[in-house]
Amino acid sequence: MASQEDVFKKLVAHCKEYGFVFPSSEIYDGLGAVYDYGQNGVELKNNIKKYWWDSMILLHENIVGIDAAIFMHPTTWKASGHVDAFNDPLIDNRDSKKRYRADVLIEEQLAKYDEKIDKEIEKAAKKFGDSFDAELYKNTNPRVQEHIAKREALHARYTKALNANDLVELKNIILDEGIVCPISGTRNWTDVRQFNLMFSTEMGSTADGAMKIFLRPETAQGIFVNFLNVQKTGRLKVPFGIAQIGKAFRNEIVARQFIFRMREFEQMEMQFFVRPGEELKWFEHWKQFRLKWHKALGLGDHKYRFHDHDKLAHYANAATDIEFEMPFGFKEVEGIHSRTDFDLSQHAKYSGKKIEYFDPELNKSYTPYVIETSIGVDRMFLSIMSAAYTEETLENGENRVVLKLPAVLAPVKACVMPLVKKDGLPEKAREIMNMLKFDFKCAYDEKDSIGKRYRRQDAIGTPFCVTIDHDTLNDNCVTVRHRDTMQQERVNIEQLHAMLADEVNMKKLFKKIVEE
Ligand code: ATP
Repeated sequence: MASQEDVFKKLVAHCKEYGFVFPSSEIYDGLGAVYDYGQNGVELKNNIKKYWWDSMILLHENIVGIDAAIFMHPTTWKASGHVDAFNDPLIDNRDSKKRYRADVLIEEQLAKYDEKIDKEIEKAAKKFGDSFDAELYKNTNPRVQEHIAKREALHARYTKALNANDLVELKNIILDEGIVCPISGTRNWTDVRQFNLMFSTEMGSTADGAMKIFLRPETAQGIFVNFLNVQKTGRLKVPFGIAQIGKAFRNEIVARQFIFRMREFEQMEMQFFVRPGEELKWFEHWKQFRLKWHKALGLGDHKYRFHDHDKLAHYANAATDIEFEMPFGFKEVEGIHSRTDFDLSQHAKYSGKKIEYFDPELNKSYTPYVIETSIGVDRMFLSIMSAAYTEETLENGENRVVLKLPAVLAPVKACVMPLVKKDGLPEKAREIMNMLKFDFKCAYDEKDSIGKRYRRQDAIGTPFCVTIDHDTLNDNCVTVRHRDTMQQERVNIEQLHAMLADEVNMKKLFKKIVEE
C-alpha cells in the first residue's frame, strides 16, 4: 500500500493536473506558500463557501453577513493585540538553513509518542486476538506505560513553557528531546525568537505622510469594528451573529504542506454575541453545530475530533479546534473560541467610543461576550480533497482515480455525452445541456471512447455522466452513470432535471444538521 506521504504527493499532483490548484505565478517558479485555484478548484471552493454561508445565513434568522475591507485603520491591530502579540516562536537549523516553528517541532514530537503507544497496542492486539483488552494493556504494560509517562512529562513541560512565553525553555525542550532537523538530521539549532506574522504596506504617497497599514491576519476584526453599525441598522437583539468570508494574510514562517498553511488564504468566520455569563453554554452549542456541519458532508465521522487548546489566548476562556484526519495526521481545520468581551472592550478603549448593547429584557447595558467559529476555506478544501481522492482497481484489472466528492460540492454536476459524434446524437445532447445549464454546472464531452470520458469525469469528481445513444432518439431515455458505484440506469429525459436537483441539493445536508 502507498504510504500516506505518497498519497499526499499524488494528491498535490492531481490538484495541478486537473485544474484545481496551481502554484502562484508558476511561470516565475512560484511564490512560497501562495496558490491559485484553477477552473475546477474555484467551483469547489465556491461551493464550500456557499455551504458555509447558507448554513449560517439561511438556517439562523439571528445571523447576518457582512463584507468588510481587507485594509483597516492601523489602530485596529494595536487594539486587537496583533501588533504586540501575534507572534510565532521560530528556530533555525544552522546546517540546513531551514526555519521551523518551535511549537510545531515539539507538537510533532508529542505525536511521535502517540504513534509509539498506538503501535505497541496494535502489535499486542494482533498477538492476543479476540480476547485482547486494549485499555487494560495500555494501563499495565510497562513499555506502553513508559511511553505514556514520557509523553505526559513532555506535554506538561511544553504547556508550561508556552504559557510563560519562555523561549529559552522551548529551545531546551527541543535539545533535551533530541529533536533533529528533518533535512540536515542535526541538532545544530539557533535560539528561539519571536516573529510577527503580519504583512505591512504603505497607504498614501510619502509626500502626504504615508501611513503604515497591515493586511488583515484574520477577518474577525472587520466584524468587531462594525458591531454597532450592524446591530443598530439591523435592530438585532443579543444573542445574534455576524458572518463573513474573506481573505486573510499571514507571513507564516514554515510554509510547507501545500494549501494547509498559506501566506494568503481565506477564512469563514462568524462572531456570535451573547450575554456575559452565557458564553460557555453557547460555546458548547457552536461546537456541536459546527461538528454536525462537517459530518453532514459524509466524509467519515471517524475523521473528526476535537482538540482543546493547551494554551488559551490571553482573551479566551475556552477554545477548541475541530481537527480532520489529513494524509499527514489529524490537523486543525476550524477553531471555536470563547473570546469574552476582549475585542469589543479593546476597540471601545482605543476608539474612545462606547461599544455596548442595551438589553431590553434585563433593562441594562453591557459589552456582549463573543463566541467565534473560524474556519479556513483552503484547509476545508484540502480536507475534502484528501478524503475524496481514491485509487481503485476495477474488475477488468484497469485502474481509476476517482474523486469521491460530496455531490453538492462537486465542481461539475453532470457531463453530457453523445455516444457518437453523428446521427443527430450531438444535437440531442445539446438540447439536454440547454435544459440543465440554468441550474447545474454541466460539461459537454464528445471526444474519445465513453470509457475514457468516464475516467476524465471521475478524476474531477463529477457525480453523474449522462449518455445519449441511438435509443434515446426513440425512447427519450438516457443512460445515467453514477460515479462511485459506476452503476448505470436508464432515465427518462423528463425526469433528469428533478433527479439531479434532488441529488445535488444542499437542503438535504441542512436538514441533517438541523434535525439531528
Ligand atoms: P495554526 O495553529 O495551524 O497556525 P491558528 O490556530 O493560528 O492555526 P486561527 O488563527 O484559529 O488558526 O485561524 C482560524 C482558521 O483559519 C484555522 O482553523 C485554519 O483553518 C485557517 N488558517 C489559519 N492560518 C492559515 C494558513 N496559514 N493557511 C490556511 N489556513 C489558515
